Amino acid sequence: MPYTYDDQNIFAKILRGEIPAKPVFESEHTLAFPDISPKKKAHVLVIPKGPYRCYDHFVQAASDAEQLDFFRSVAKVAERVGVAESAGGDGFRLITNSGANSHQEVPHFHVHLLGGEPCGPLVCD
Ligand code: AMP
Repeated sequence: MPYTYDDQNIFAKILRGEIPAKPVFESEHTLAFPDISPKKKAHVLVIPKGPYRCYDHFVQAASDAEQLDFFRSVAKVAERVGVAESAGGDGFRLITNSGANSHQEVPHFHVHLLGGEPCGPLVCD
């Protein structure tokens, strides 16, 4: 079944400037901003600017330029917020949710970058 994209989701509104966010990083195809409800000392969301619902949609439909920009941007964000080892940090965790079983709340592809303190077990029941 083809992916659909609801352009009324919160991150689409942030990209259009209808809801405020304080970017910590921006590139041609990617935007990063703090999660409004941080689960760790560092909790940043990294999103593509294009209309993709989830990771699998992004990988299927985004251009090579968008994908390269996105994944490089995640690493740049980890450096900028100081959690990457290359920036003197103690590491980080990336999480992305896709679809109902994952409890994805916002239907615009995003990666959670978490760090600044130990992240605990990989999953909770
Ligand atoms: P997910 O469950 O993976 O879809 O995560 C969605 C995330 O978006 C949650 O961690 C929310 O706290 C976060 N969130 C929702 N609204 C906003 C907003 N306006 N600005 C920043 N983060 C948000």
